[in-house]
Amino acid sequence: MAERKKEEKEEKEPVKQLSIEDIPGVGEATAEKLREAGYDDMMTLAVASPKDLAEVSGIAEGIASKIIVAARKMADVGNFETGEEILERRREISKLTTGSKALDDLLGGGIETQSISEFYGEFGSGKTQIMHQLAVNATTPVDKGGFGSHVLLIDTENTFRPERIVQMSKAKGIDPEEVLKSIHVARAYNSHHQILLGEKAAEMTKEFPIRLLLVDSLTAHFRSEYMGRGSLAERQQLLNRHMHDLLRFGTIYNAAVAVTNQVSARPDVFFGDPTAPIGGNIVGHTATFRVYLRKSKAGKRIARLVDSPYLPEGEAVIQVGEDGISDVAPV
Ligand code: ADP
Ligand code: MG
Repeated sequence: MAERKKEEKEEKEPVKQLSIEDIPGVGEATAEKLREAGYDDMMTLAVASPKDLAEVSGIAEGIASKIIVAARKMADVGNFETGEEILERRREISKLTTGSKALDDLLGGGIETQSISEFYGEFGSGKTQIMHQLAVNATTPVDKGGFGSHVLLIDTENTFRPERIVQMSKAKGIDPEEVLKSIHVARAYNSHHQILLGEKAAEMTKEFPIRLLLVDSLTAHFRSEYMGRGSLAERQQLLNRHMHDLLRFGTIYNAAVAVTNQVSARPDVFFGDPTAPIGGNIVGHTATFRVYLRKSKAGKRIARLVDSPYLPEGEAVIQVGEDGISDVAPV
């Protein structure tokens, strides 16, 4: 089985073997310009627009256009898949426990691979705690209900705490050191950096078996960098691209992707419903599960499944404590 998976992965990614220097007309100097501008693989070039590419790389638009045409021929873009192939891929979907049976049940068994799960809510609602718990759960051996895999975390608010990982691992009776070794954290200093890290995630799979990609927070940088109505379109476009990078990662590597999002509690900047998640429909349409978290009494949180394409809306109560995420103990 493991053997077969590996073969499939290689089959799905023939383009990764080619580098951008393989494109006719792209020499060392041009390749360097392209790389500096973030166009470092065939697929990124294939889906670029000539105008954008010319603008950011300083290459003439005519040449940019030729490079894109060549990249499209060489990259495996827009191939159709049969329904059978898609079904086969969907058979490989696995679920990762959140730590709470009640929340897992709400999600139909846990968060899924090959899709994005979004956890949103106000400050202190437990989003970062859930990210930590998912990381620990993914590294947990398969025979103990985990993926036995490594984890990537893109940390935009500097809220990753290895101490919490140690506490949560001990609570599960697994070796904290092993868990920490399997979690790879990258700080993202701005939205551009965050997008780049999302694109680079695939490279990490060459070295580590990664089945979980976390972004905490998905929207914080975008929110602070693109203020007001004027820059909303640009922000949404970048967020959309980022979300699709994350989804592509999840699909190709059969990995779960979980992201956190805030609510727009600042009516001076974001208009409308103060409990609405940032990024609105752009994020919502790409995420399969959206879970809205609200604070309740004594470490309890109410998790609400919102807008699921195939599960009923509903709520679950979870406990956030020193041991991590769990069900509320019966009284
Ligand atoms: P956010 O939604 O802003 O990411 P967090 O996930 O950081 O929120 O949640 C913070 C909350 O998690 C705290 O208010 C507390 O209730 C709980 N928490 C964090 N660390 C611990 C801990 N060591 N023991 C118990 N509860 C904790
Ligand atoms: Mg947080």
